[in-house]
Order: sequence, then structure tokens, then C-alpha cells
Amino acid sequence: MSGARTALERIAATAVSWPLLSRLVGRLADLRLPRPLLLPLIRAYVRAYGVDLSEAALPADAYPSFSAFFTRRLREAARPIETEPGVVVSPSDSRLAAIGRVPEDGRLEQVKGERYSLEALLGSSGDAEAFRGGQHATLYLSPSMYHRVHSPVDGRIVAWRYVPGLLFPVNGMGVRSVPGLFTRNERVVVLIETEAHGRVAVVLVGATNVGRIQLAFAELETNRGRAVGGFAPPQPVAVRRGDELGVFNLGSTVVLLVADPRLEPTFEQGSLVRVGQALWRRALGLAALALSASALAAAPAPPPKVRPGSLVRWPGDGIEWCAAGTERFEPLAGACIVPVDLLHAAGPLELRRQRAGRLETAKVSVGRFDYPVQRLTLPRSMVELSPEDLARVRRENREMARLWPLRTPRRFSLPLGAPLEPLPEGGHFGNRRVINGEARSPHGGVDFSADLGVPVRAAADGTVVMVGKHFFGGNAVFVDHGDGLVSQYFHLSKVDVAEGQELARGALVGEVGATGRATGPHLHFGIRWRGARVDPALLLAPPAALPCLDPAAGLGCRR
Ligand SMILES: [Zn+2]
Repeated sequence: MSGARTALERIAATAVSWPLLSRLVGRLADLRLPRPLLLPLIRAYVRAYGVDLSEAALPADAYPSFSAFFTRRLREAARPIETEPGVVVSPSDSRLAAIGRVPEDGRLEQVKGERYSLEALLGSSGDAEAFRGGQHATLYLSPSMYHRVHSPVDGRIVAWRYVPGLLFPVNGMGVRSVPGLFTRNERVVVLIETEAHGRVAVVLVGATNVGRIQLAFAELETNRGRAVGGFAPPQPVAVRRGDELGVFNLGSTVVLLVADPRLEPTFEQGSLVRVGQALWRRALGLAALALSASALAAAPAPPPKVRPGSLVRWPGDGIEWCAAGTERFEPLAGACIVPVDLLHAAGPLELRRQRAGRLETAKVSVGRFDYPVQRLTLPRSMVELSPEDLARVRRENREMARLWPLRTPRRFSLPLGAPLEPLPEGGHFGNRRVINGEARSPHGGVDFSADLGVPVRAAADGTVVMVGKHFFGGNAVFVDHGDGLVSQYFHLSKVDVAEGQELARGALVGEVGATGRATGPHLHFGIRWRGARVDPALLLAPPAALPCLDPAAGLGCRR
């Protein structure tokens, strides 16, 4: 395709992308038109798109509005659900735009040569972890199709997240011309924990004039101008294959992710699939049979991998204490939660705990993970330190290091409170920095860009344990929240707290600034937990979304 045509398509795609337009169309579709107007409109649509009304629950003249027709239910038993075990079924009536394995780097192809990251799609790096090496499918719903989305598995809904975005059309034109389409559209991520296949994510991606994805199991209506939101139900919501998960109010796409690496697809790309048909089956090849026959002789499964800077959640009932390395600690939110330092060497990590009087052990393997490289150009004086500055930085590092062994009683719960309200999208955690062409230490926090003077708030109850004027961090505040968790707020223009001060969650800490080594106003927010530098974004999301360890099933929990 010529460059000019691609550019034109991009402009056209962008011009119709704004959620406002979708909202307008949504309102029109909701209008209760007089029947003499509405019925011909529905009939024209049925003809134009070839809608099969024979399988709809109601006849064409029974709908009070156009959107009621569009989101029509089907008659009983119109979609038989595959009941065979070891099968993942289609969540929607769709054309299968893509099906395959998720590469280990977690980047999926949108169109040839255009790839997007799972992290961006899901709006969370913690959630993305489970799906590397697993399965993905992209399901496109055309306007004629049934627009309700169903559970592809038996399991429990543990969390869901609404990620607002621009709404680009997801037809061929939009997919070709807008880079990262599925990561820029409004979407709802539903996370389901299963016994058979580990974690499953059903991502409902909005499209032009769609907006308003609704969930069947929770109050959530999108495209009403609300901010990103993560939700974890107090009790997981049990679902069975074929149960309704949600509905698109106009066109749309579903991206389906399954952690299970042992599945084989049963359809090819381009196929038409229907709710309840098997998309994947458990591979039961000769290798699997041979393995079960010689199970005793076979080597144990390799320990599940976690990446440095992440956390492991090891849930269980009746946990008395948890331990990792030499550290012993209390369970939190029904699990042992273990932070893994950003600079943790690749290799095994042993976990122990006592549960109902019995000692349990588990092993995870800390993998190598190549965080993105961030190239910066800074004034030489900020990079090539004078002997005095170098001495100052070393002194500041020693002072900070005295905070990491603090172990006061826990005063926080998860998720932590956002340090900025509303919380902008953060970035740069773990980035390997190359400054003026030279490799430097990785970035241990997350940067949130915000205007000078925006209030910065405490992530939880705690005690201010240090207020510094640091060479790198500028005006820097450190708050101890107990259990070894210290939150850090850097580059502040104004500090509103003093050392020793007690803070409540949400209390004013100071204001966003650009003091210390900063290229502009932003909040650098860091977390040390029991000494480990971890991605703060993981602690700002519901704990149910943390990488979850089940020693029998690898990462991905049964409960
Ligand atoms: Zn930073």
C-alpha cells in the first residue's frame, strides 16, 4: 500500500476515533424511536448485514430500541457449549483474526510487522507475565453477529480492569493503519483463574461507535469518560463455560489469552467460530502419553519463572507464617507475598511457609528479563560527577540503605493508594538506562508525568523516616509503612512533611517538581519491600492480579 494512502487511512481512522462520537451514536441507538420508524430501520440492517434473525430470542418487532436489537439474546440452545474436558471454547461469534502461541517476549502481532505488548494490552505488567508462552486468539465480531461475550472456561473471575482509550475502528482499515490499535482502544480486561488452564484473560476491545462495553457480573459501563479502574471482587465470581461475561453495544474485538502452554488450536486463522465451539484442545500426543507412562522416572517440572522486580503471590487458607531466604513475615490478603528485587540474580528462589501446622515449600526460578533500554542525554555535570558530588551520592546512598532493614508492624493493605489523583500512566520501571551513551544502573521506580505543583499523597498509613535533598532524587521523602515496605517520592518542588511525622493514607506529602536529576516535572515513585526494588504498578493493582504461584500448577493458581 502506498504511503499516501496509509496516511489518509490513518487520518480517517483517527477522525472517527473519539469516544465522544461513540457516545453520541450510542445515545441515538438508545432513543426509543416510534415503532413505524424503528422496525424498517432494523429490517434494513438485517438485510444489509445478513443478520440471521431465526436464532434470535425475539422477533424483529419486539425490540424497544436499536441497541436492544443489536445486543439481542439468542434463543435457548442456539449455541451448544462443548463439554469435553481440556477444552477452551470460543467466547464469541467471530471471525478468527489470529490464533497462536504468545512469544516469550510477550509481544503479539497485530498485522504483519506491527507488534504490541501484552502489558500495554492488559494495562498491567504483572498480569502479562502469566501468558508468555501461552495461547492467544483475536476474535473479530462483524456487525451482523451476535454481540454477547461468554466465558471460554470453567473458573473464577478474580479481577477486572477498565482501560479507557481512543476508539479506533477495528475493521481492516483501522488494524492496518493505527499502530498499537488494540492497546489504544478502550477495553475491559476480565481475569479468570482456572484449574485446567491456569490464568485466562478475556479482553473486550471497543471499536468505533462501540463504547459501552457492559459486564454481566458487575456494574461497569465503559466510555462514559471515567478513568482506568481495576476491581477485584471480595469473593471470586464462579463462572462456567458459556456463562455470559459481557456485551458490546455496537461492533468490537475480543483478544483471548490462556496461560496453558499445552493446548493445540482446533481452528485456523480466518475461520468463522461460534460461542461454545472448541478453540483449543489439550494436546495428548505421543510425548504426553510417554511422559505419563514413565512419570516416576521423569524429571520434575521446572520451577515457574518470575522476573526480577516482580512479586509472587502464594495463596492458601490458614497460613501461619511465610519465609523467603532469611526473611520471615506474616501473610497478607490470604497469601504469602514475596517481592523479588529488580537486581535479583537469575536462579532459584526458595519459599517456605507454615499452614495448618504443616511446613510447605515451593520453588520459583528468577528469570532473566530484559527491561527496555532508555537512552537519555543529560548535561555532563549531572552525569560525570565531580569528586565532591560522587562523595555526596555515596553518602546519600548509605543513608537510604539504613532504611531498607526497617521492620515495623505492617500498616498497609493492598492495593496501595495512588500517589497522584488521578493517576497518570506511569513508565520506565526497570529501564536499563544509557545516559550520554554509557550504561548506568536500572531505574528502580516508576515515573509519572504530572504538572509542577500537583499534590503528592502517601500510598498508605506510615511514618516519614527521611526527608532528603538528594543529588539524584532532589527533594525526596521516604515513608515507612511497616513490614519492610518503604515508599519513595522524588523530585518534589515542595515538601509538606517532616521526619518522624505520622501520615494517614492519602495525606499530602508534597508537590510534584523537577528537583535533583530530572528532565522535567514528574513524580518518581519507588517501592522497597523487605529490601527489594519492585514495580510499584504491581502494588497499585489488586493483589489478586499479582503473579500467582501454585506449586502443582506452576505460576497460575487453582484457587
Ligand atoms: Zn525516575
